[in-house]
Amino acid sequence: MSDTSSRLRIVWIYPDLLSTYGDQGNVLILRRRAELRGIPTETVHVHSSDAVPVEGDVYLLGGGEDRPQILAAERLRADGGLKRAAERGAAVFAVCAGYQIIGETYGDDAANPLPGVGILDVRSNRGQTRAVGEIVADVDPALGVGRITGFENHQGRTAIGPSARPLSTTVKGIGNDDATEGAYQGQILGTYLHGPALPRNPALADLLLRWRVGQIPPLQPSWGETLHEERLAAALR
Ligand code: GLN
Repeated sequence: MSDTSSRLRIVWIYPDLLSTYGDQGNVLILRRRAELRGIPTETVHVHSSDAVPVEGDVYLLGGGEDRPQILAAERLRADGGLKRAAERGAAVFAVCAGYQIIGETYGDDAANPLPGVGILDVRSNRGQTRAVGEIVADVDPALGVGRITGFENHQGRTAIGPSARPLSTTVKGIGNDDATEGAYQGQILGTYLHGPALPRNPALADLLLRWRVGQIPPLQPSWGETLHEERLAAALR
């Protein structure tokens, strides 16, 4: 990565393995909402054959099918860069398969527990049914995000350990499967929301920015807020 101590360094992990349902949109919106506040950004796409840089500010991981998910977890564990970045305080935003593999363990397609990257105190394994459809959830008030919406499609179910907290409580949908959705621990956040999640929930993008740069000015409501309201109304109909 080039020198850029004043830039927000956004690292997109494994677009070749973890990028279902337009998860790249999360990268684009995070960058856009930073730049609208005058925060310069640098975005790095890290393919699964590349080393994960340790000096990033925000790391994004998307969803994936069962087999690419296993490959991604094996490579991230062998590489070690994401874990070191998390230890030095980087923010991590991980969706679905990404959420599962940053946890302690996750399940393969025969429900065998496999080791995750171990930066979020959650354990996932295969459920009896697939959770598919619109999801609506109220984020932990401590995070100042409000109500979020997304699309979920996963077989895995997730149990949250004592070091992590549920990201939100579900209003509609399955999420973790105990009336909660997602988890966070410090600046490490996992969620089942696709859609992609950050375009549909600009407040979630702003949370990641606040974690890295502190207070940020509000933006004029834009199509992002309109989309959020529209999807919320549609999901609750
Ligand atoms: N393969 C995982 C599951 O089914 C994750 C799916 C996804 O990322 N959409 O639980």
